[in-house]
Amino acid sequence: MSHQHDIKNFTEKAFTDWLQAHDIAPYRAGQILRWTYHRNASHFSLMTDVSKELRQWLSGRLTISRLDPELIQASRDGSKKYLFRLKDGHHVQSVLIPERGHRTLCISSQVGCALGCKFCLTGSGGFVRNLKPAEIVNQVCAVQNDLAHPDSLTNIVFMGMGEPLANYESVVKAIGIITANNGLQFSSRRVTLSTAGLVPKIGDLGQDVTVNLAVSLNAADNKTRDYLMPINRTYPLEALLGACSRFPLPSRRMITFEYVLISGVNDRDEDACRLARLLKPLRAKINLIPFNPFEGSRFKRPDETTILAFQKILTDNHYTTLIRRSKGGDIGAACGQLRV
Ligand code: SAH
Ligand code: SF4
Repeated sequence: MSHQHDIKNFTEKAFTDWLQAHDIAPYRAGQILRWTYHRNASHFSLMTDVSKELRQWLSGRLTISRLDPELIQASRDGSKKYLFRLKDGHHVQSVLIPERGHRTLCISSQVGCALGCKFCLTGSGGFVRNLKPAEIVNQVCAVQNDLAHPDSLTNIVFMGMGEPLANYESVVKAIGIITANNGLQFSSRRVTLSTAGLVPKIGDLGQDVTVNLAVSLNAADNKTRDYLMPINRTYPLEALLGACSRFPLPSRRMITFEYVLISGVNDRDEDACRLARLLKPLRAKINLIPFNPFEGSRFKRPDETTILAFQKILTDNHYTTLIRRSKGGDIGAACGQLRV
């Protein structure tokens, strides 16, 4: 076997199985993972309640990877962008967003994205590769290390670079590690996965893990959505909303629908009315994200009056509707501004 296994690519179950296949007692898995994630051990030699022979054996077969930020940029509004250089030289970004009472980390699941949404800078750069579970988990570990109090990181959202459901296996493993007791110990209520709408994978996700679901809707009719998000031609609105209605939601939980407001494209009163009608069968709340411009983009952000009028139609229809004033615009860290 290769001695290049990275312990951070293993879920607890897979690690237990791997140890057992080498005749090592299953209880060791939890012990070693707690050293790795709770005590941030950088090497097996530090795991002093593990026998010396086993520590040496592990060192010969496993690595404990980490990501060190190559660059940290702080925004005027308190958000922070972390740039990570991966082993093969590619880069990914994570964005830390302070909000009242909690801090949210927006993490990446791929280098680039293949889905090519017209309003998204990440998408316009094309797809490079999937991240491994360790590369996803290490974004969280690195930011925790950078914070004075690791516990002050309260929420994780898969809203950085990439389409998480297009990297399904690694993302599900990473969610497992992030929420495990012998892992990063986030409550699954504090982890949210955002998807552009890979319908079959939404079905799988509900079966395989407990996680909050966010859907980037961005249009309430197929014609507009086909234009903005090519994935809609494969999985149109009817199929997407069907998958949402079957998604298992814990009591009092809702699906978040994200809607990037683009001037003259999807911001008319009738768009808001149609959106309200479309989501009626679902337990839905809505996040409006005024379009963040980037160089070379053809779109414009609507003016304030239009944004507020759009919101009012939705709140009048009893939807909880937040306007997500993207943070980090001055450091290129706002929604859709992460580039390859
Ligand atoms: N691929 C997933 C996860 C990335 S989330 C998804 O699309 O859901 C990125 C979020 O930022 C999405 O909700 C997307 O609609 C939004 N977004 C992309 N480009 C944007 C832009 N230029 N301005 C504002 N929001 C944008
Ligand atoms: Fe990919 Fe999401 Fe950007 Fe669309 S919005 S291109 S799915 S990252």
